[in-house]
Amino acid sequence: RTKAEKFAFQAEVSRLMDIIINSLYSNKDIFLRELISNASDALDKIRFLALTDKEVLGEGDDTKLEIQIKLDKAKKILAIRDRGIGMTKEDLIKNLGTIAKSGTSAFLEQMQKGGDLNLIGQFGVGFYSVYLVADYVEVISKHNDDIQYIWESKADGAFAVSEDTENEPLGRGTEIRLHLKEEAGDYLQEDKLKDLVQRYSGFINFPIYLWSSKEVDVEVEADPEEVPEDEEEKTATEDEESEEDAESKPKTKNVKETTWDWQLLNDVKAIWLRSPKEISDEEYANFFHSIAKDLTGDKPLGWTHFNAEGDVEFKAVLFIPPKASHDLYENYYSNKSFLKLYVRRVFISDEFDELLPKYLAFLKGIVDSDTLPLNVSREMLQQHSSLATIKKKLIRKALDMIRRIAEDDPAESDDKEGDSEGEDENRGKYAKFWNEFGKSIKLGIIEDASNRARLAKLLRFHSTKSGDKLASLDQYIERMKPNQKDIYYITGANKEQLEKSPFLEQLKKKGYEVIYFTDPVDEYLMQYLMDYEDKKFQNVSKEGLKLGKDSKLKELKESFKDLTKWWKELLSSENVDSVKISNRLADTPGVVVTSKYGWSANMERIMQSQTL
Ligand code: ADP
Ligand code: MG
Repeated sequence: RTKAEKFAFQAEVSRLMDIIINSLYSNKDIFLRELISNASDALDKIRFLALTDKEVLGEGDDTKLEIQIKLDKAKKILAIRDRGIGMTKEDLIKNLGTIAKSGTSAFLEQMQKGGDLNLIGQFGVGFYSVYLVADYVEVISKHNDDIQYIWESKADGAFAVSEDTENEPLGRGTEIRLHLKEEAGDYLQEDKLKDLVQRYSGFINFPIYLWSSKEVDVEVEADPEEVPEDEEEKTATEDEESEEDAESKPKTKNVKETTWDWQLLNDVKAIWLRSPKEISDEEYANFFHSIAKDLTGDKPLGWTHFNAEGDVEFKAVLFIPPKASHDLYENYYSNKSFLKLYVRRVFISDEFDELLPKYLAFLKGIVDSDTLPLNVSREMLQQHSSLATIKKKLIRKALDMIRRIAEDDPAESDDKEGDSEGEDENRGKYAKFWNEFGKSIKLGIIEDASNRARLAKLLRFHSTKSGDKLASLDQYIERMKPNQKDIYYITGANKEQLEKSPFLEQLKKKGYEVIYFTDPVDEYLMQYLMDYEDKKFQNVSKEGLKLGKDSKLKELKESFKDLTKWWKELLSSENVDSVKISNRLADTPGVVVTSKYGWSANMERIMQSQTL
C-alpha cells in the first residue's frame, strides 16, 4: 500500500507472535472467541458512551449494535465486523503492537513452562491468537474521532498503518480480515462457524450474524419448451375451458436457488435473566468460560445464581473457577475483582473494586442491577450507596456457595455416607477448592471481621489426628477431650518437621489433637483468629499452655528453684524472660518457649525470609 507507515512490534509482542504463528497447537478455534469477545467489548464501550450522548451512535445502520461474520471462499478470507467504538490511528498503533500489556511477559513465561494457550484471553493478548489460523491480517477501523485506517501485518516483526482509500466506509467500528493459512480452510465453512459461535459465544449480548447461503425453492416462469412431457399430456386431456385458462396464465415451475442473507447465530437474552431452573449445568459452564476468558474447558468448581430483592434489586451469577489465576496471590493487593457490572442489561465495567472484597477476587461473574442509575459516570457509580448493600449480599451468597461445596463433598465428612446424589462428581471437590483458594479464606479471616466466624468454618488443615485428610474446626471440636478447653495448634515450615517437634510430645501422649499450620500466612491468620465457638486458640510453642491440673508440678517447681534461678542468671534477661519447670514435655529435657504476645520461632523464620 502506498503511504503505509511501518512500525516494529514491541519486542515481547513480537516474540509472542512468533510462538503463535508457529504453534502446532491443535485447538485453533479460540481465535474466533477472542475476536468476538473484542467486538463485544467494543460494542459495550460505544453503548456505554451512548448513555450520556446519543449522538455517538450516528444514524441508520451505524446505530445497530451488532457483529457480522462474512466468508470469502475464493480469496480464503474470514472477516469479522463490529459496529463498536472503533480505533483511531493512534489506538491501532498502541493497542495492536507497540504497547505491551502487563500480561504479555507473564503469558510468554507461562507458554515456556508449557502453559495452556487457551488462557490467552486472560493475559490481555487475545487478539494475537488470529495468527493461529492466518498468516496475514488486516484490521480496518473507523472511530468517531478519526478517519478510516488499515492496520496490517504478516507477523514478521512489523506492522503497517495506512489511510484506507480502497474499502467501503465502515461508518463506525472495526473489521478484522483474516487471510487464512492453507491448513485453516475449515474456517471457510459456514457450518463450522455456526457451530463454533453457538458453542462458545452464546453469551455475547449482541446479535452475531453470519452471511450465509440458503437453498430455496423459487417459482419461476417456465420456458414452454422446457415443460416436461407428462405435464403437457395432462393439459391436453383437460377440457376446453381450462385449457384456455392455462394458456392465458404464464406457466411456472419450481427450481432450487441459492440466496444469501444474514443469519442470526445467537440468542441475545442474557442468561442471568432466565430462571435458574431452566438453565443446564452445561450452559452455566459455557457462560463461565465466556466471562472468565478461560477456554480450557475445565468446569467451574461451583456457582450461585440469584435474584436479590428489596431496597436494592439486582441479579447475579458468581462462579468459582476450576483453578486460581496465575497471579492471584502474587499481585494480591493490586488485583481487581473481575465481576462484570451491568445496569439494566447495559455493561458498565469489569473493574469495579467496590463489588467484592479482595479476598474474594478469585470469583468470576456478573451483577446486573436495576437500582443503580444509568446516566452517570463510572466515578459517580463508584460512590453510590447501593454498592455497599450489593457487596454485602454478594459476600454472603459467595460464602454460602463455598459452604455448600464443603457440605456436598462426601469425602469431607464421614457421616454423610450413603447420601448418594451426585456423590462421585462432588468427591474431593472441597479439597480441590481448598488447594486452589484456601489462602483466600485465610486472608478473609484476617480482613473481614464481620464474616470471620463464617470463614473460620471453611478452614481446613492437617493435624496430629487428621491423617492424609484435611480436617475442619468443627471436626476438631468434636474430637476434643472432655477436659480440654483450648484448641491447640503449632506453626512451622512443614508437617514433617512439626511432627517431630518436642512441643507435641506430651500432648500426643495424652491424646490431644494439635493443628499444624504450615503456610506463612497462618502466622498472621492466628493473630486475628482468637477463638472458635467459644474455644480459645493456644499455640503450643508459646507460654500459657495448661495441660490440666498437675499436683506434682508445684512440688517440682519448689525443689528445682535453685536450678531455674541459676539458669535464668546464666542466660541473662536479655536472652530469656524466665526459666520454668513445665509439664509440656515428655522425652526432651528442655525447650525454648515464646512469650504469649511475642513472635513464634516460625514467625521469626518467616520475617527473616520475607515471604508471605
Ligand atoms: P484485551 O481484549 O484483553 O484488551 P486483546 O489482545 O484481545 O486484549 O485486544 C487488545 C486491544 O485491542 C483491546 O484492548 C482493544 O483496545 C483493541 N481492540 C481489539 N479488537 C478491537 C475491536 N474489534 N474494536 C475496538 N478495539 C479493539
Ligand atoms: Mg480481547
